[in-house]
Amino acid sequence: MKLISKIFILLAIACCATAPAQAQFGKLVNKKTIGAATKAVQAATLSDKQMSEYVKEYIDWMDANNRVCKLDDPQTAAYAARLDSLTAGLTSVEGLPLNFKVYYVIDVNAFACADGSVRVFSSLMDIMSDEELLGVIGHEIGHVAHHDSKNAFKQALLTSALKDAVSATSDKAAALTDSQLGSLSEALVSATYSQKAERAADDYGYEFLRDHGKNPRSMAKSFMRLKAIQEEQGGSTKTSKINQLFSSHPDLDARIKRMQERADTDNCPE
Ligand SMILES: [Zn+2]
Repeated sequence: MKLISKIFILLAIACCATAPAQAQFGKLVNKKTIGAATKAVQAATLSDKQMSEYVKEYIDWMDANNRVCKLDDPQTAAYAARLDSLTAGLTSVEGLPLNFKVYYVIDVNAFACADGSVRVFSSLMDIMSDEELLGVIGHEIGHVAHHDSKNAFKQALLTSALKDAVSATSDKAAALTDSQLGSLSEALVSATYSQKAERAADDYGYEFLRDHGKNPRSMAKSFMRLKAIQEEQGGSTKTSKINQLFSSHPDLDARIKRMQERADTDNCPE
């Protein structure tokens, strides 16, 4: 998440053997709003309270505008049950409660929000094992723990078209329109973290999984899977359809090596 960490790939895996998810993540994004002149609003003027309110507005909107897999929905129950099962015991990070949901969408992605909301896309679940998914989730939780998600969100808030709605004087967060929330989503797509932050998120994810009784070798497995997918799709990280999921991230080979070495040193099962 990248937001959420940086979070988003809007491109879909073209061929789905299973029933295709229909919703297109981000369909409400109004691209015309992108690129409006930047209004000088200092990040420092946004209080933590305002930030929390904006994050809640955003994730509520995302949940309302993407089909959320539910245990009582025959078509999507398997995804919900699988995510529930693999995230069992992952209840909080640094005192922040975690909540997990699956979006039934064709885009291949996952993200975490500064408030502890983790969203995994069904099409990512289609192409990853439980352990591989845990690696992605661990990494995203690392961004939450290190406040990367919060900082990216704040930056997106102030650089997207909705900046005009962000009050620098009122103590209360503004109610955002669909267009503004879509614009925020677009801004989060292009958010990037430093390689140092990415490595730190990998390490946090490793330790988080280990400390919660999961196999931290999941981190390396996840990156290996991403690499394999990229290669299947032509090898170019510039055009890979899942590229955006880790587009700003350091070289996958280096990440795989670091995570494998840690797992080997700790004698983690293969
Ligand atoms: Zn990352």
